[in-house]
Amino acid sequence: MKINTEGLTSFIPENEIFRTLESTKNPSVERVREIIAKSLDKKRLDPEEMAVLINADDPALAEEIFEGARELKKRIYGNRIVLFAPLYVGNECINNCSYCGFRSSNKKVARKSLTLPELDREIEELVNRGHKRLILVYGEHPKYDAQFIHDTVKEVYSQKHGNGEIRRVNINAAPLDVEGYKLVKSAGIGTYQIFQETYHQATYKAMHPSGPKSNYLWRLFGMDRAQEGGIDDLGIGALMGLFDWRFETMALLYHTIHLEEKFNVGPHTISFPRIEPAIGTALCDHPPAGVSDYDFKRLIAILRLSVPYTGLILTCRESTAIRNEVIQFGVSQIDAGSDIGVGAYSQSRESYKKSQFVLNDGRSLDQVIRELCEAGFLPSFCTGCYRLGRTGEHFMEFAIPGFVKRFCTPNAVLTFLEYMEDYGSPETNKAGLRQIARELERMPVGDQKTQLLDRIEQVKAGDRDLYF
Ligand code: SAM
Ligand code: SF4
Repeated sequence: MKINTEGLTSFIPENEIFRTLESTKNPSVERVREIIAKSLDKKRLDPEEMAVLINADDPALAEEIFEGARELKKRIYGNRIVLFAPLYVGNECINNCSYCGFRSSNKKVARKSLTLPELDREIEELVNRGHKRLILVYGEHPKYDAQFIHDTVKEVYSQKHGNGEIRRVNINAAPLDVEGYKLVKSAGIGTYQIFQETYHQATYKAMHPSGPKSNYLWRLFGMDRAQEGGIDDLGIGALMGLFDWRFETMALLYHTIHLEEKFNVGPHTISFPRIEPAIGTALCDHPPAGVSDYDFKRLIAILRLSVPYTGLILTCRESTAIRNEVIQFGVSQIDAGSDIGVGAYSQSRESYKKSQFVLNDGRSLDQVIRELCEAGFLPSFCTGCYRLGRTGEHFMEFAIPGFVKRFCTPNAVLTFLEYMEDYGSPETNKAGLRQIARELERMPVGDQKTQLLDRIEQVKAGDRDLYF
């Protein structure tokens, strides 16, 4: 793969972002309310409007922003929370990212790449716990080229255990060239995720001293090349703690607008991981621009309001308490029962030595599911849209009022019921059945409900993988 960034210039206007953040300080209550109302009307916000929300840091106004985010999440996503697990395929890496345990200069990490039989064992374990959606994660290394990613994805899809299988494989890996993306797409991937880490060029340079990742523009245009290679389901993100979160949040919006303008479709998901401690990595103990829990909550709510139709992902990097609190402000996907050591699901011994960083939510999938239900959320393992080709621009057409009610909620009910039939513990199933009953109560009588009730009986009778 040849890295070529000739002729490219950044679409992140750094000075404009600083200026806008400055000029929107001390916003009036009316202006903040006007912007929340625009968002509740399901319109994407402009950078100036996002900056106003960022500057609305008076506690009473922040409370209105939280409330707005909560309301918008309900209106667009309903109670659903989509569940997935990360699977680390290999931790070898030729980059030297200052914040990452996998960086090439870190001698404290035990390096490991899974062989296909080892990958199979991980899949068997995850399937037997009830997972249906994975994100495969790779360091950046010549070994993990597009062909390798393609082959590992194919391997995952080839596995079947009992009633279960993985139905959607997302990727988090280094940016590829257009040909590479085409190859990976042909394996049937879901989302291709790349985090810019920091959009601030000088900070980026300092944090990525060597290796291919030191090229800011190659990474920044990674999603453009993915689109050119035919992948229209993309995930962007920033690693919070490297530079001011206000700037990074604005830059995520500029990245979204860039993709919308150029390809008619924004990112499918946005991630906003905070830096966590990592073995042999001092920087993580004192991140240069650490984000407090309160600001983290604000940034999630502000993102929710700014990009109503983009999924927001929250991972087990965060503690159980934080996850339970912020999930209501607009998170649409979480991982559960995660272990990020390479090979850790099938042989958990000392997995931390092969881990990129430390996780703070150690609950099992079953426990997370139970607690979600108790808090009124509806766990979902749905993969319907991706398998029916409802992605990219096409999908944006569907992201309209009524879609969630017609497709997402029924599919969440069916996939969750499968989980309960095949994997759920008695206590989780009790909470789950109560949650499903609540969802059914809310559904108006009609064809849709009749069809769903039919399919519920089919799942109970042993049918699997039914979706609308
Ligand atoms: N090697 C690929 C790359 O860098 O794009 C794959 C991604 S890496 C294995 C997954 C993501 O983990 C990174 O993009 C980064 O945002 C995040 N990460 C790295 N170190 C971290 C840390 N100490 N705490 C939290 N997240 C971290
Ligand atoms: Fe390697 Fe990715 Fe970690 Fe950087 S973040 S050191 S590229 S695994």
